[in-house]
Amino acid sequence: IQAAIDTLTAKGIDIDTNPPSVKSKSRDFFWYSPVLKDRLDHVVADFVATPKSEAEVIDILRICHAEDVPVTTRGAGTGNYGQAMPLAGGCILHLGKMTAVKDIAPGRVICEPGILLKDLDAACKADSGQELRMFSSTWATATIGGFIAGGSGGVGSVRWGGLRDVGNILRLRVVTMEAEPRVMEITGDDIHRVAHAYGTNGIITEIEMPLAPAYDWVGIFLSFKDFEEALRYSYDLAACDGLLIKLATIFEAPIAKDYFQRVAPHVAEDDAVVALMVAPHAMPGWETFTAAYSGAKTIYVQGQTDWPRQPGHVFEYGWNHTTLRALKVDPSITYLQIAYGADDPIALIGKVKERLSPEVLQHVEVTRSGGRVTMSGLTLVKFTSEERLDEIIAMHEEMGAINFNPHRYTLEEGGRQTVDDRQLAFKREADPKGLLNPGKMITWDDPDWSYDSMYAWPGLQPKTAA
Ligand code: FAD
Repeated sequence: IQAAIDTLTAKGIDIDTNPPSVKSKSRDFFWYSPVLKDRLDHVVADFVATPKSEAEVIDILRICHAEDVPVTTRGAGTGNYGQAMPLAGGCILHLGKMTAVKDIAPGRVICEPGILLKDLDAACKADSGQELRMFSSTWATATIGGFIAGGSGGVGSVRWGGLRDVGNILRLRVVTMEAEPRVMEITGDDIHRVAHAYGTNGIITEIEMPLAPAYDWVGIFLSFKDFEEALRYSYDLAACDGLLIKLATIFEAPIAKDYFQRVAPHVAEDDAVVALMVAPHAMPGWETFTAAYSGAKTIYVQGQTDWPRQPGHVFEYGWNHTTLRALKVDPSITYLQIAYGADDPIALIGKVKERLSPEVLQHVEVTRSGGRVTMSGLTLVKFTSEERLDEIIAMHEEMGAINFNPHRYTLEEGGRQTVDDRQLAFKREADPKGLLNPGKMITWDDPDWSYDSMYAWPGLQPKTAA
């Protein structure tokens, strides 16, 4: 480690070994999960390297490769699966200074990975009235590189689908972890070799993303006495091709009353709430659409409703901000990520709610995939024990709801218990020593793992090391 630090420092690269700041850059939002908090709280890197350019990324990777130093990449560290936690210590490669926007053209932008989503949107809007198709609800704090390598979709996915859907990432430029790192341009289907791979098989140094026209989206809250009507309303709205929306989120009662301080005075304990973002030109159509739902009560329209305390961005109630707001009020809350699919998601959600509410409360995001409306849950769970959490997950699977377990730090367990073969093949090619974000790809370490229990990576630094 020290040899790497000395060589990097001699090269003029920004290296930080100050324990408090190394500790703070060694953490992400893993603590949303009590299971991950127990396993990862002590994890810490040895130093942070902050490159200013791709050339410095290459130097860092070459030197760390030579000295066998593990490298875990960090955008802003807002991931919830412990994606950016340096399980084996070593180097945190912090990309927060690589923020250039290189080119904006009709329908696309080229940028460096460390720019914040909100800054990228602002640059595209100022240049030519464009914006990202979708962003994580951590828009204000997360980077585009972290979103692509660690996220899945978010605000905008109701119109455009997720990051995995074809066409939602145009090109990635990637540096490999080898004796002499290579730079590769990746397009088309190959993008999924490195997208959502947690930085285990290459470092993304340049990104080309598709853009959509930018709007001053109107944030809206509605209340419904009947949760199922709230689901049906949101589903139908997302399916309504002529109405442009960027967000449709449904909260079972009493989520809004109990956890949304600024919304709470305007709803009752038994109100389900829907949060929307509607394009300004779609507002008259939205009003016509909404009038057909007798149970829909519009309680807030941004720019029109004069609440004494304004709620802020409506999207900061949805996606994983719902969990954050709930956690602030009740630290025993945790969450699940559930796919209800496109076949009959409303019936499936009803079945799950029937069986598990109020221990499990439904927070549902409406998304679109393959031209169909789909629904996903970032379900709130009152945590009692790991055993009970596993039981709740098993019940979901039994009922046909697919679980992406956010209480696991490996790619496979946070996915469908199998790694994309292309990601594994690319790791063999791009990181032959296995130094990139070690411990996050089970198939790399233990191809025969059975998934009967939580994977505990043998290289995880012991608790006493901290
Ligand atoms: P980090 O946490 O720093 O990194 C994420 C992963 O990507 C890590 O494995 C890291 O090693 C890797 N990585 C980062 N940069 C690179 C790079 N340049 N090359 C290779 N690997 C890299 N996620 C969603 O998808 N949608 C949401 O709506 C959403 N809402 C959230 C709300 C809250 C309140 C919180 C706390 C989290 C939410 N998340 C969501 C998770 C997370 O915020 C997003 O995925 C976010 O975009 C991650 O960006 P980051 O810069 O913080 O990445």
